[in-house]
Amino acid sequence: MNDFTKIIVSENDIGRKLDVMSAQIRADYAGKDLLLVGVLKGAVMVMADLARRMPPTVQMDWMAISSYGSGTKSSGVVRILKDLDADLTGKHVLIVEDIIDSGLTLSWLLGNLQSRGAESVEIAALLRKPDAVKVEVPIKYLGFDIPNEFVVGYGLDFAEKYRTLPFVAILNPEVYGG
Ligand code: 5GP
Repeated sequence: MNDFTKIIVSENDIGRKLDVMSAQIRADYAGKDLLLVGVLKGAVMVMADLARRMPPTVQMDWMAISSYGSGTKSSGVVRILKDLDADLTGKHVLIVEDIIDSGLTLSWLLGNLQSRGAESVEIAALLRKPDAVKVEVPIKYLGFDIPNEFVVGYGLDFAEKYRTLPFVAILNPEVYGG
């Protein structure tokens, strides 16, 4: 059995897209101090590869959150497991996300960070699923729109596995007994 039915975003695709996204971000934040905020653990890979395309003055910080929900769907009710170390007052913040599905988690995060006195809060996301349009979240920098399938790789897991793959693939439903 193959663990994946299809690779939908290759390692090369990701690299080329991050080149484009990072060029836009560098231009938009030229002369400004930028703080990249990632949500553990899914955003680790995209954060690492995006941050290495930024000027060396860029800062990184992390949050761990858990979304109360039934099964695989998030509810938008969020608990902070690990908060940011940084004080956001007067900072330019860019949330770096792996994937936006319903958008509920991100919508909560955006409101939460905006309430901390940041000068600006924007969003960069590598992947977006069609359902994301249900909740209005303004994504300033987007990588790829992908089909409504469960994907793994490049930070995204199934039961903590497959995060280390350099590409994004559709998980074979047989892996989770589907
Ligand atoms: P949202 O609140 O946008 O529905 O949830 C987003 C979170 O759900 C992502 O940060 C990610 O952790 C998880 N998620 C959504 N779709 C997928 C997927 O296809 N594969 C994996 N591994 N996680 C996903």
